[in-house]
Order: sequence, then C-alpha cells, then structure tokens
Amino acid sequence: MNQTQIEFRNVSFRYADDQPWVLKDVSFTIRSDQSVAIIGHNGSGKSTIAKLINGLLFPDEGEIIVHGTSVNENTIWDVRKKVGMVFQNPDNQFVGTTVRDDVAFGLENRGIERIDMIQRIDSSLAAVRMKDYLLHEPHRLSGGQKQRVAIAGVLAIRPDVIILDEATAMLDPKGRQEILTTVNEVKQNHPLNLITITHDLNEIISADRVIVMNDGEVWLETKPRDLFTKEEALQSIGLDVPFSAKLANELKRLNIELERTPLDQKELLDALW
Ligand code: ADP
Repeated sequence: MNQTQIEFRNVSFRYADDQPWVLKDVSFTIRSDQSVAIIGHNGSGKSTIAKLINGLLFPDEGEIIVHGTSVNENTIWDVRKKVGMVFQNPDNQFVGTTVRDDVAFGLENRGIERIDMIQRIDSSLAAVRMKDYLLHEPHRLSGGQKQRVAIAGVLAIRPDVIILDEATAMLDPKGRQEILTTVNEVKQNHPLNLITITHDLNEIISADRVIVMNDGEVWLETKPRDLFTKEEALQSIGLDVPFSAKLANELKRLNIELERTPLDQKELLDALW
C-alpha cells in the first residue's frame, strides 16, 4: 500500500492574529509505508505540525488530510483515533497507578471489551518489552521505561500513525537508546506510520525520509544519508550532523572516497576497513 496517509496542503498557521506566522505555506505528503523524521532547530515549527496532525490546533490557511479525513472541528475525534502521540515529558502522560491501568485507560475510554483489552495490554507491553512491569507504578520507572510504557499505551489503541514528539529529549543516553531500539522493533512488527520529531540528527537514521524545517518553512525533504552530506548548510540553520557523518565528510575533503555516507559509527568503520 503506497497510499498517502498524511498530506499538508499549503498550510499556514499562527497562534494569534497579532502573532507572527509559525508555519508558512507548508506542503508535504507522507505515504502509509513510510517512517518520516521532522527535524529543525528549536522554534522551527515541528511541534506545531504534530499538534495540527492530531487536531489539537487547526490551520489558518490550507488543509490537512489524515488518512482520507480533512482535519477540522467536526472530524477531530475520527482523526485522534488514527493518530497516537508520545510527548517529551513521560511524567505528564501517566494517568494510571500501575503500568497495566495506565495502558488500560486509553482502551476503557474507547469502550474496548474486557477480553480484547487484556489481549491488547499484553501484546503492546510485550512489543516494548515491558510485560514484566504490569503491576509497577509508572512514576517509579526509569525515563526510558516510562517512555516505553507511553508507547505501549499508544500502540494498544492501534493507531495508523504514531508521532514521537521529542520523545527522547529528556532521557539519558541509555534511555534514548532503549527508545530507538524499541521504535525500530515496533516499526518492523506493526504496519503504521512513524513520525519522529526531533532536533537531534542521530535520531533520523532509521527514517525513510526527512523533512527539514527552518523558521516555519520546509527547507528540504530528502533521505537521511543525503542529508548528512550537507554539513555546512545544516549548520547554517542550527543543526549539527552526527560525528560519523562529519568524519566521512572530512575524509572526502582529503579525497578519501567512501562508497556511501555512513549513517552511524558501525557503518563508518565498515566503510573504512
Ligand atoms: P519546535 O517544535 O520546532 O521547537 P514549535 O512548533 O514548538 O517549534 O514553535 C514554533 C514557534 O511557535 C516558536 O516561535 C514558538 O515560540 C511559537 N509557539 C509555540 N507554541 C506557542 C503558543 N502556545 N503560543 C504562542 N506561540 C507559540
């Protein structure tokens, strides 16, 4: 299935009439078989895009279509069934006193039957490797574990789209790695769109496509590997490429050609030796 899942058609948005435009004539499409990273410096408009996809905000100009539905006041509940969001601060997302209750909450709200609910809780916690923590208190978990439970809560609802909005920003390197591994596993086993919103270029490696935002405009759409060759241009809009890509670019300047731009340290070492 190569259908368009999400489409922004000439979308402009500002938070109030007397405020500057935060998104300016933004257009892009995301196909149903793609995972996409949206990157850009702080304030470039990434989170606003996430909120518009989920119907938390509405465009002032243009149109947003999510899985065939135009997002507006009348369709938000339809749209929110299709889109799951995981935010930056895991502590703000919990409502249950145990991991099980927390994942159950979103299902109860949707009137899912008990037998189906138990099965969904089990399978979504298994997908993020948190099944052993059913009766633990969410607030006592590590940062990475909390975000995995938040992802399970979203998976249980079986959305078509999951948006991770800076979901690793508050985690230590170990927690961040846990989430990246979890997301890759989920991606392999579940047919859904993953949209990763981040300012950290290390996190775009597993995306099929990258949309780069700059001051409310789409600056570039490309593949991660192609993006990493544009080190200076990225620096000019406040983004820093990962170390492995920097080193590969430096080698190129010394006329040492690698077959392709490495995405991470392992690929860099493989390319060198
Ligand atoms: P990013 O996610 O890339 O950091 P945001 O979408 O959060 O960017 O913000 C884009 C711009 O919109 C910024 O200039 C920010 O200050 C402004 N902004 C974000 N939220 C609000 C709000 N609730 N009210 C007014 N301005 C806002």
